[in-house]
Amino acid sequence: MLRQAENLRMSKQKFTPEAELLWGSVPSQVQERILQNVFCGKCGGSVTIVDYTGKEENGDLILEGRCGICGKRVARVVETSEMKFEDN
Ligand SMILES: [Zn+2]
Repeated sequence: MLRQAENLRMSKQKFTPEAELLWGSVPSQVQERILQNVFCGKCGGSVTIVDYTGKEENGDLILEGRCGICGKRVARVVETSEMKFEDN
């Protein structure tokens, strides 16, 4: 599949083309905030997501990866409405 070839070119983060478009529309400051505020059930709070991938589902962006602290699998749904937020 072409999609896999595209993913291989992206050494760090693996996003589907749809997810890439959605993520690209998020201001970088908001991207950082989202990545640093993923809930981990094991750590019991907000953690930074690492080794994450992105996909699109029903117009929302789903980030799936691992907790930066304990390594447990975590996921974060980024709603499209959330993408319109801008930092002050
Ligand atoms: Zn954790």
